[in-house]
Amino acid sequence: GAGELAQSLGYGVYAVGGFVRDLLLARPNMDLDLVVEGDGIAFARAFAEQHNARVKAHHKFKTAVVIFPDNTRIDVATARLEYYERPAALPTVQLSSIKMDLYRRDFTVNALAVNLTPGSFGTLVDFFGAQRDIKGRNIRVLHSLSFVEDPTRILRAVRFERRFEFQIGGQTLRLIKNALQLNLFNRLSGARIFHELQLIMEEEHPTDCLKRLQELKVLQAIHPLFQLTAKRIDILEELEKVRTLYTLLYVEPPVTGWKLFFQGLTMNMERNEAAQLLRRLGVAPREEREHLSTREMVGKALGKLMQWREGVSRPSDIYFALERLPLEGVLFLMAKSRKDAVRKHISQYLTTWRFHTLEVSGTDLKQLGLSPGPDYTRILRRILAAAIDGEAPGR
Ligand code: ATP
Repeated sequence: GAGELAQSLGYGVYAVGGFVRDLLLARPNMDLDLVVEGDGIAFARAFAEQHNARVKAHHKFKTAVVIFPDNTRIDVATARLEYYERPAALPTVQLSSIKMDLYRRDFTVNALAVNLTPGSFGTLVDFFGAQRDIKGRNIRVLHSLSFVEDPTRILRAVRFERRFEFQIGGQTLRLIKNALQLNLFNRLSGARIFHELQLIMEEEHPTDCLKRLQELKVLQAIHPLFQLTAKRIDILEELEKVRTLYTLLYVEPPVTGWKLFFQGLTMNMERNEAAQLLRRLGVAPREEREHLSTREMVGKALGKLMQWREGVSRPSDIYFALERLPLEGVLFLMAKSRKDAVRKHISQYLTTWRFHTLEVSGTDLKQLGLSPGPDYTRILRRILAAAIDGEAPGR
């Protein structure tokens, strides 16, 4: 194993971070992170050789990813030996490097390691009260400058608090308020904030996180337009349900959390306000354009869906209202639709209609003597509509 290999190289090796935290919480976690006291990249290379795996090394950060044939991955980091000058007359001390590695982390609950080295195998390495905080369900930073060092940790604190139903500790809460008073978010790049927001929107309950962030006045610190209203909260909660439903269908493509939830977060905003918010978050121009055009298409489609009447309108009208929308736009419309029949047809669209291929092709039409041109498309679309409305066989 990893421990024997590290020992043969004269290194120590530890499992760290979320993997160990989730072990103690009895939650599944497939992301193993290792920290090596020694040369992490050399360890990763030797480990990969033993397991017929590949290595991607980042020399600048002294980290590596070991990629196994079945595509599972292990992250390997290097804990550097650090020497600290002590006041005169006292010798320079070498701190245990795993301790320094853990001290750089975000919260005590993530600053826990398991020693994998033979002889100490399985020993928990807990310098900062991680076990106490996991038991007490507390999110605590390791030192008072933590949020000054990295204000994105405020978003991470809320994400972990809501995910595990923990509490952000009192002192940590005060440090968050301090950080906000110092306007630390103003100096933070949009991209770094956005990355953490994306992680939040991949959580099972992003709405709880967003509500907590609003309560702590974090949203407004990011941008004054970043605001939850009662209506937005309602739709965000509905979006969570719709995403769960969709995920249970196991169809492709996967939902991109932020693209879905930002539809709700920018609801009832002017187009240029939505654009301002996305720009503050460093969203790429192409993604910004895509979001704004989805919003517009969703608005038009919503008008059509509102007019749709069961028994009077045709199911294929719903197909045509949805056909050009990205998945996240379709799911937003489903969340917005109050009528059962409309929802049912949107769900049919997701499971079958959008995969329809017609048995009749352009070639067939040509063989029937029809000349190529816009008529082709028109006729094919008519056949598709008939198939959806159950008037003719389609596949
Ligand atoms: P998840 O279950 O969401 O993957 P995780 O704890 O594994 O949670 P990652 O984002 O994968 O989180 O980060 C891995 C580890 O790196 C964390 O456990 C944490 O200790 C550390 N870490 C990540 N981001 C930061 C940060 N901004 N500041 C300090 N430490 C961080």
